Amino acid sequence: MASLLHTRIVPKARVAHARVAVLPWHLVPRPLLPQVPPDADASHRVCATCARAVLPGRDARCRECGGSLEDAPHVSRGPPPPPPPRRLTRAQRAAVLRPKWASQYWMGTFFLALGTLVLPVALAFLRPLLLMAGIFLVVGVRLRRSGWPSVLRRAQRRRLHVLRWGLGAPAELTQVERHSLPGLEAGRVARLDYVFLVHGQPVPGSVPSSRLADARRPPGEPVWAVYLAESPDVSALWPPES
Ligand SMILES: [Zn+2]
Repeated sequence: MASLLHTRIVPKARVAHARVAVLPWHLVPRPLLPQVPPDADASHRVCATCARAVLPGRDARCRECGGSLEDAPHVSRGPPPPPPPRRLTRAQRAAVLRPKWASQYWMGTFFLALGTLVLPVALAFLRPLLLMAGIFLVVGVRLRRSGWPSVLRRAQRRRLHVLRWGLGAPAELTQVERHSLPGLEAGRVARLDYVFLVHGQPVPGSVPSSRLADARRPPGEPVWAVYLAESPDVSALWPPES
């Protein structure tokens, strides 16, 4: 995939012009030049001054803030996603499919089970128990629904689908947002925004993460994304958290 982006032959006179390709996404004017340089995998460094992953300029200085990159650690894109269909581990699936409010969801499941157990007893022997069984069932269903809303469940299923079947594309983290109330909503502590190219057009994406390490990743870091060929707005980062 990455190699496709670099196969264009640039005449010598235009080499200086082609350097524009290593500028950050938001600085590149349209029409877009290939923004993933051939040496992207090894040459990004994490700038200590502005905490971004950048490509060093000519004098080993950060392109964003001008800080020195001499002792800055390297950061690489890592191995590309294997061809689809990919097998996800149990842990990887569980990290994607998780209720918004886990305790509420499991409490709802408990009430639903209780109602299901009481209902036949009430019908067969003790009619007064019918009301109780009904309350248990209603409370159970409501708690389960609010604990794991169907919109969220659908989004999580889509993410699983794209992780299994999506096409791989080199991407770049654009923003790393740390959540102020860690662990509350679906266990997420960070949100990673990224962008990748499809037919030369930048497509943004965003995934939640429950890994604390993800909250410390530098914007600008080269990463891999997977996306659905038929609707590139459905995408995820590769590898998934596990
Ligand atoms: Zn910098």
